[in-house]
Amino acid sequence: MKKPEKVSMRLGTETFKENAEAALLNEGLQQRLHVLEGITEKRHKAFSELPDGEVLRDRARSIKEEVILNLDRYLLRLEENVQRAGGMVHWARDAEEARVIILELASKNGVQRVVKGKSMASEEIGLNEALELAGIEAVETDLGEYIIQLSEETPSHIIVPAIHKSKEDISELFADKLDAGYLREAGELTRFAREKLREKFCTATMGITGANFAVADTGTVVLVENEGNIRLSTTLPLIHVALMGIEKVIPTLRDLNVFLQVLARSATGQKMTTYVSLLTGPRRKSETDGAEQFHLVLLDNGRTRILQDKEKRESLYCLRCGACLNVCPVYTKIGGHAYGSVYPGPIGSIITPPLVGLQKSKDLPFASSLCGACREVCPVKIDIPQVLLRLRNEWVEGQEGKSGGSAPFTERAAMRLWSFAMSHQRVYNLAFRLSSLLQLPLLKDGKIKRLPFALGGWTVNRDFPAVARRSFHSLWRDIE
Ligand code: SF4
Repeated sequence: MKKPEKVSMRLGTETFKENAEAALLNEGLQQRLHVLEGITEKRHKAFSELPDGEVLRDRARSIKEEVILNLDRYLLRLEENVQRAGGMVHWARDAEEARVIILELASKNGVQRVVKGKSMASEEIGLNEALELAGIEAVETDLGEYIIQLSEETPSHIIVPAIHKSKEDISELFADKLDAGYLREAGELTRFAREKLREKFCTATMGITGANFAVADTGTVVLVENEGNIRLSTTLPLIHVALMGIEKVIPTLRDLNVFLQVLARSATGQKMTTYVSLLTGPRRKSETDGAEQFHLVLLDNGRTRILQDKEKRESLYCLRCGACLNVCPVYTKIGGHAYGSVYPGPIGSIITPPLVGLQKSKDLPFASSLCGACREVCPVKIDIPQVLLRLRNEWVEGQEGKSGGSAPFTERAAMRLWSFAMSHQRVYNLAFRLSSLLQLPLLKDGKIKRLPFALGGWTVNRDFPAVARRSFHSLWRDIE
């Protein structure tokens, strides 16, 4: 079959700073991003009710560590067991190979319509555009993804793809694109989308999903969801294609038990999602429903390259739960589109550079305060700040000697002074006293609203905390 035309990844990481500034000025977006606080509260509650939450997170991390170190062995075992159950396994080195595999399957089976479950991997390879170019209708069936597809946008959150849209936006969208008329209530809008999608489920010949996990020992693909659309996408069409990043393999069903306990709690604050589907091969003769063909597409697309790097390989532990986005002081202010990547937020800032190249995404590793909130909530304890530092270091080292490449003179001079003061206690004490005096004309309501000269960039969108009147050491001396 002819290779599909090159499909754009729709990534705009180069304009991160401009995107972020526009997002900060978008009042509607700022209001809607507050929803994330509620999700984080639910997550906190769900974990606090779990007596051994920390133990489970440690266990989840150690399973991932073991799998990633022995990925080849687990993937071969997975392939063997998927085939034993009657399924087919396809290996895709990159996005283009994955698209070709899926398009060939569709062409061979005369597929005209595909229903899709939410899958970040399919966003990563630009699958919808490729299907469209081949004349195949691809319908997103997760409600959030359906809204995004109708508005011709990309998801702005891993778990809540349409978080940037209000109920009114969706009402207008449905009226405009689907002739829905005047629907204002969330229930009405959902019912309307459901009726539209039901017809698509019944007439599609192929269902395409991602995979949250694949169990090597049994060849089982595991899908978790709340809407039931994935269950319909995998049981009604004749063919089910699961597209999965190679890092999603886990050893056994016993390990799945660990991940299921931490995934839903981290993603939505639920103890368990409404549906958990475990699919092993296609429908058996004795079964009444399920796809007649089952295909598992294993996507590399740069993952084995990440695997070779001891620090960056942590990003392969990711469960795509979105918890790090919800607590990140940067993501919660600018939302997902500003990142210009399929994967936004803290995890996106460490996954995107290896995917699209550091040159194109150089601002993303710097889009963090390094506060560590992402590491605190991550169910597999990925040390995102450490990987961000590593990427920053790579970028700076790569720029050495290039004209205009290294950090501005003022920044370098400030860092040298800072380093000198930190390693000479008397100088530090003197600098501390001087700064607490020099800041006085700049203080307003206990904060510095505008830093002078080249430092002004720090205070364009936020205040600078005032230097304390007394240092920690001096307070400590009082206690002693
Ligand atoms: S890095 Fe951790 S918290 Fe963020 S999406 Fe991945 S698993 Fe979830």
